[in-house]
Amino acid sequence: MSVSEEGDQEGDQMLKDNYINGKMTPAIEGATDTVVNPATGEMIGEVASSSAADVDAAVTAAAAAFEDWSTKSPRERSEILHKAADVIEENVAELSRLECENVGKPVSIIEFEMDLTCDNWRFFASAGRFLEGKAAGEYMDGYTSMIRRDPLGVIGSIAPWNYPLNMATWKLGPALAAGNTVVLKPSELTPYTALRLAELLDDVLPPGVLNVVCGRGETAGVALVEHPGVAMVSLTGSVAAGQSVARAAATTLKRVHLELGGKAPVIVFDDADIDAVVGNLRETSFYNSGQDCTAPCRVIAGARVHDRLVSDLTDAVGSIVTGDPMDSDTEMGPLVSGSQLERVSGFVDRAAEAGAEVTIGGTRRDTGGFFYEPSVVVGVDQASEIVQREVFGPVITVQSAPDEHTALAWANDCDYGLASSVWTADVGRAMRMARGLQFGTVWVNDHIPIVSEMPHGGFKQSGYGKDMSMYAVEHYTEVKHVMVKH
Ligand code: NAD
Repeated sequence: MSVSEEGDQEGDQMLKDNYINGKMTPAIEGATDTVVNPATGEMIGEVASSSAADVDAAVTAAAAAFEDWSTKSPRERSEILHKAADVIEENVAELSRLECENVGKPVSIIEFEMDLTCDNWRFFASAGRFLEGKAAGEYMDGYTSMIRRDPLGVIGSIAPWNYPLNMATWKLGPALAAGNTVVLKPSELTPYTALRLAELLDDVLPPGVLNVVCGRGETAGVALVEHPGVAMVSLTGSVAAGQSVARAAATTLKRVHLELGGKAPVIVFDDADIDAVVGNLRETSFYNSGQDCTAPCRVIAGARVHDRLVSDLTDAVGSIVTGDPMDSDTEMGPLVSGSQLERVSGFVDRAAEAGAEVTIGGTRRDTGGFFYEPSVVVGVDQASEIVQREVFGPVITVQSAPDEHTALAWANDCDYGLASSVWTADVGRAMRMARGLQFGTVWVNDHIPIVSEMPHGGFKQSGYGKDMSMYAVEHYTEVKHVMVKH
């Protein structure tokens, strides 16, 4: 069934309450936040705006569920999480529709992240059976030492709005697989797939193992971070939110897992396949309207290919079909909110005022909703705001670098360190760049593909801790040494 057909069948009934201890529960103080469809700017519904009391109820439920969940065998948890994956797969059309309507994602692109989400659940469902540690042995005469990997307890998981279900999955999968219980706070802008997921898994997960508390960062988010019953906080969001969470968590010395912003460089050497570069940028820089922490957005081109790259890229970007996310021909939809639209257009306007050339785009679309044209900006300085700061929108800058040394220096000259790519026919140069780039991911002759088995995470102000892979599962466990005298 297609996303839009499923939408027609579902009607307009939207979820609005928190999900605590296996029950849909209104916010104790009755407050709500308005949720908007970014393609129209119109309200979709109202959702619980939770206070510290709601967070406390959810943490209490998660703490009560911990003993039973954490003492299930890895096989038992694996079987339950595989059932969860089955349910998600069976309901992909409905979850896709919710995501498209709430985030403004085109129906033409949603399949990719839903496929990844399903695969992530399958991976984590099995991963809890493969935890590793040093071999047990007699490291001191008369003693046997062994390593345990114990779950931590209640995890406070805080998700962003750009990939609401997928980011929730990156948090829930490793936490639950390792035997923890979770209180998940989705973004106040995009709560629907998290709530629907919890509802769908109601018959699969024991009560209290997964709780969803909706609300704002400054209220529900802060309450979750500060709650003494939460053992670890996992946040995906902005650097500012990460700094705030790390500061608040310091009071109780909670473990913190931070996946923050990005500003991915794309280093294109003179010997690169320019058609491949342009094709990749057209597809991946504007995917999800550029609201992607790994999106290639900062092109650093060799001097001999710079002009051709700008020309071809401008033409390619001009052919991107933008508009109604529910139209199957649409390649790019709106930004998520009015404030995101202000943010993106502000960056481009200030760059143009400072002398940069906008070769395509640079304007809003006056059609209702929060649309911004896909844009290419050239003639920008390394120190300029648009090169240094995360725009998080459909905007690419292109710079011309005189040599390999400068290209690497410019790529690393940024507070962020999440993802990067290098494009060259020279394997030796690709390897030198892979060693030198201070980013959690380096792609060679591609940009964006990800797999469940490999880690995703940042260097520098992009945060710490890894998502996906066994590294993520390990981060949700504590290493314990048991030393037995005999
Ligand atoms: P945001 O920081 O505004 O919000 C993220 C989440 O944190 C939301 O649920 C919000 O309510 C909550 N929050 C905000 N302040 C908080 C606080 N002080 N305490 C507790 N919770 C708080 O980010 P956003 O605008 O929703 O998402 C966009 C950002 O997320 C971008 O910077 C993007 O790069 C980043 N991101 C990073 C990754 C990654 O894997 N590194 C993935 C996706 C998005």
